[in-house]
Amino acid sequence: MPEKVVIIGSGPAGWTAAIYASRANLQPLVFEGAVNEENRTKSTLPLGQLNLTTEVENFPTWPHVDASVLHQFAKSALPEERYQNLVGYYEGKSAHKGKRAAFGPEQMEFVRQQAVNFGTRIITDDIVSVDLKRRPFRLRSLEGQELEALAVIVATGARANYLGLPSEDRFKNNGVSACAVCDGALPRFRHKPLVVVGGGDSAVEEGTYLTKFGSVVYLVHRRDQLRASKIMQQRALSNPKITMKWNRVVDEVLGNEDDGVTGVRLKSTVDGATEQLSASGMFAAIGHTPNTDFLKGQLQLDEKGYIVWTKPQRAHTSVEGVFAAGDVADSHYRQAVTAAGTGCMAALDAERWLAEKGWA
Ligand code: NAP
Repeated sequence: MPEKVVIIGSGPAGWTAAIYASRANLQPLVFEGAVNEENRTKSTLPLGQLNLTTEVENFPTWPHVDASVLHQFAKSALPEERYQNLVGYYEGKSAHKGKRAAFGPEQMEFVRQQAVNFGTRIITDDIVSVDLKRRPFRLRSLEGQELEALAVIVATGARANYLGLPSEDRFKNNGVSACAVCDGALPRFRHKPLVVVGGGDSAVEEGTYLTKFGSVVYLVHRRDQLRASKIMQQRALSNPKITMKWNRVVDEVLGNEDDGVTGVRLKSTVDGATEQLSASGMFAAIGHTPNTDFLKGQLQLDEKGYIVWTKPQRAHTSVEGVFAAGDVADSHYRQAVTAAGTGCMAALDAERWLAEKGWA
């Protein structure tokens, strides 16, 4: 028997689609992604980009609240094994005190649980290939599982970009990272100068987060103005531990096999002048690439690889029965709340399409 709806991806879009699809009795099956080293390096582990961030201050519903309330909330909402994924926020040395917004990983655990509560089934694996030219659609997972689906919702999101320097590649996991929240607390970064590259909200967020660990954070931006939102700009510019390096790019990551990263060489985008900075880490925060490699030749993608929504204000794609939600199809807004919104749209569109076919 083919699945009615398979949802690929487990960020805000995927879980919102799952909540709606499960409440519509479609018994959705979610492939939440594999937990492996490759996904860790590419920042494509389950629970999406939000799981790699700190406080989420702009998602409606989560004003700042005493951390103990979030502790109680997590204990009550989650089964013990999922609560353990968050325990560091509430118990022990790293427990957060005072008022705060919900952290990204908390939100993702809560929304995952919401989907589970309504009967969503979950497989912790990647979908690596699809055949959308036949019906039912055919999907294959990394572990070799093959299955059929009447409808598919793609919500695989986007992953962080790296600069593309050979020296950067050489020091990945040895001082080079694209995720401050995942790696920032490592001993190698503590009380040492750190470099963040980029000028958007991610760069400011990562830079601000890293000031907890590094002695100084250099924010290297290729222009003389940040792209980040005004409130985030203020945060960066008023933080005494952040030093702006305007009009510069990282030209080379410096280091050796024993110590990993020891610094970077910067190049001026104005006059080409170079300078060296000592640093024990370099964090790339320069935007994202959609996770659509497994869809090439199967679905219409734009020139940057994002899935094309083919009907205005709908989650339909170029293949009837395949719907897209979240950052995988949205290079413009890329917010958690818009991803969740389009997840809802994709599930409703899938439900209606299956009903029209007499399959739901
Ligand atoms: P982004 O807004 O696309 O910014 C990417 C930054 O990297 C830009 O400043 C860009 O420079 C720079 N850049 C790109 N390629 C580069 C290269 N090869 N070398 C050097 N610099 C390079 O990406 P983002 O910051 O990841 O944000 C993505 C989306 O998520 C945005 O919509 C953002 O609002 C959202 N977001 C929101 C929050 C929040 O609200 N708390 C947090 C994180 C992200 P230019 O400016 O010169 O193009």
